[in-house]
Amino acid sequence: MSRHQVSDYPAVRLKAGREKPVRQQHPWIFSGAIAAIPAEAADGAIVDVCDAHGAFLARGYLNRRSQIQVRLLTWDAAEPIDAAFWRRRVQAALDLRAVLPEVQGCTALRLINAENDFLPGLTVDRLGDFLVMQAGTLAIDQRKQELASLLLGLTGCRGVIERSDMAVRKLEGLSAQSGVLAGASPARVEVVEDGLVFAVDLLHGQKTGFYSDQRANRRRVAAYCAGKRVLNAFSYTGAFALHALRSGATHVTNLDSSLDALTLAEANLRRNGFDPDRQAENIVGDVFQVLRDWDAAGAADFDVIILDPPKFAQNQAAVERALRGYKEINRLALRLLPPGGVLATFSCSGLVSADLFQKVIFGAAVDANRAVQVLETLRQSADHPVALTFPEGEYLKGLIVRVAT
Ligand code: SAH
Repeated sequence: MSRHQVSDYPAVRLKAGREKPVRQQHPWIFSGAIAAIPAEAADGAIVDVCDAHGAFLARGYLNRRSQIQVRLLTWDAAEPIDAAFWRRRVQAALDLRAVLPEVQGCTALRLINAENDFLPGLTVDRLGDFLVMQAGTLAIDQRKQELASLLLGLTGCRGVIERSDMAVRKLEGLSAQSGVLAGASPARVEVVEDGLVFAVDLLHGQKTGFYSDQRANRRRVAAYCAGKRVLNAFSYTGAFALHALRSGATHVTNLDSSLDALTLAEANLRRNGFDPDRQAENIVGDVFQVLRDWDAAGAADFDVIILDPPKFAQNQAAVERALRGYKEINRLALRLLPPGGVLATFSCSGLVSADLFQKVIFGAAVDANRAVQVLETLRQSADHPVALTFPEGEYLKGLIVRVAT
């Protein structure tokens, strides 16, 4: 045992001068910062991280196959990573949601937001009486069964569904996996958000099935919709549209490329007592193409447009193209709105900062030749907290803007 060794965990040694982010409790250690990984440490195992002199810095889990070779779990040398550790961290995340004002009365919420709840790689949503888990890393994948049992016990939910079908798993050397991890398996559940009821397809819906990160923004945008005709582009199952109708919108149009999503959107309209024929229209189509067609035909008649596209920038190489995509849909939407019209526009690409996004909307307004005022800046809902040590956790940004002339 070296003079510095404080535990039985194998110790990963950093290169000289690379310890600052670790000391500041950033949870990621990239391969370039590492001088040596002991051969006996298996991928997925718990390791200590020490500085170039062998002094303890932090403790986390290892995966040589990932660019992020260690994700950190604790900075306390006296804290072992055992069953009690996972229980404490999970309970702390649950305790936060239990008192979070924003989610009260809602049965769709994020319970564990990975690094931002100090549980790197682990994402868990609650949807009604079921939990949906995403294992983003090898170490979490290896422990998912015990985590599922722990979660069932702590929440009293009826089942845990795995939806580990995210692209990022490839970077960890993992393939996509989904299915029932523990307890019962319903195909569909109903969740409640502000008194509105939504059907969610747990096994086949997108991501974890419901976008609870937009809850706060659905409330904010709905407040502009009374008496208005609303286009909900990238609608998924129509959550923004239901909030808009409940707030007095005269008509909503859901537009999405997924027929399955729009089928649920139509069911959701009926389920909440709205008339899908008189108060709404559901259009299957590509937003880029449909907006271009409407623009060419001068055919659109909307007072409010919502643009909530999927993540366009999956990695740094895709950012330029993503920015062109954001600019194009926003340019078209601004052209389609009358003076006084309102655009609620979002980007969930973490690689596109709020600043950059606002510049893109500026560029779109210039190209559309419209005078535009920012009314509100928006971000992800509070059940998707951002650890201050982990700015990467901030991913969803939005603007409510008004077309003045
Ligand atoms: N606003 C939704 C979430 C949107 S998720 C909510 O509040 O629940 C993004 C949606 O965009 C998905 O439903 C996906 O099917 C759809 N989509 C992706 N690319 C598209 C495109 N080019 N045209 C239309 N819809 C698209």
